[in-house]
Amino acid sequence: SSVLEIKDLHVSVETDQGAKKILKGVDLTIKQGETHAIMGPNGSGKSTLAYAIAGHPRYEVTSGSILLDGEEVLDMEVDERAQAGLFLAMQYPVEIPGVTNANFLRTAKTAIDGEAPSIRTWMKDVKQAMADLRMDESFAARNVNEGFSGGEKKRNEILQLELLKPKFAVLDETDSGLDVDALKIVSEGVNRAKQNTDLGVMLITHYTRILRYIKPDHVHVFVNGRIAEQGGPELAERLENEGYDRFLVEA
Ligand code: ADP
Ligand code: MG
Ligand code: MG
Repeated sequence: SSVLEIKDLHVSVETDQGAKKILKGVDLTIKQGETHAIMGPNGSGKSTLAYAIAGHPRYEVTSGSILLDGEEVLDMEVDERAQAGLFLAMQYPVEIPGVTNANFLRTAKTAIDGEAPSIRTWMKDVKQAMADLRMDESFAARNVNEGFSGGEKKRNEILQLELLKPKFAVLDETDSGLDVDALKIVSEGVNRAKQNTDLGVMLITHYTRILRYIKPDHVHVFVNGRIAEQGGPELAERLENEGYDRFLVEA
């Protein structure tokens, strides 16, 4: 089984005023099959961590490393990271005009596996995954995320997760903007992926609500570009009651 190790990661983002330091030494190890919740206030750097793992060109890793089974992820191109088994569900999924969802999924699957999936099993898998996520079949023929509601975009991210079958998934606020029914459907999708493929999950969230449906093994509180505190699921319950004030005062 695989392991993702983030070691003393420092990341800056390019802004109009120059480079701004966001991550200030993040250490985190996730084994396949584990779920780690990353919780923290807005602006604490959670998405920056997600982008650094995925390889977003605007986020510069100034020191530290990210190892997947001992291999340096930071030396890999974005597509190589996906092939190695990393997946990012974005906080704000992008629209891709001119590319149908069906085409996008099949092209991504082919690129990641290094060969095209057999048409019959693929069609069956796509239909099944869409039905499980209560997505109408018409979403296959529509352009990726174009005109999708916020909730539909989040479902579409989990559709990709279920079909591409990564080893590790970073889910960046997949819960935000979902009503309770959609939250359950999306959570069930993540839990299926955990069961079927022994997925390791980095579940980034501002709220504790999703943790009722996706049970974390570990909880990390992220404040000001660092992990300020770690614990088990009970830490999430504390945060639900106390909020982030205590950490913000200390920071
Ligand atoms: P979170 O996901 O925890 O809300 P982010 O990682 O999105 O936090 O942002 C962390 C900090 O970095 C914020 O202060 C944000 O404004 C800043 N930041 C992130 N990306 C950019 C960018 N492209 N340009 C300028 N500032 C940015
Ligand atoms: Mg935010
Ligand atoms: Mg964010």
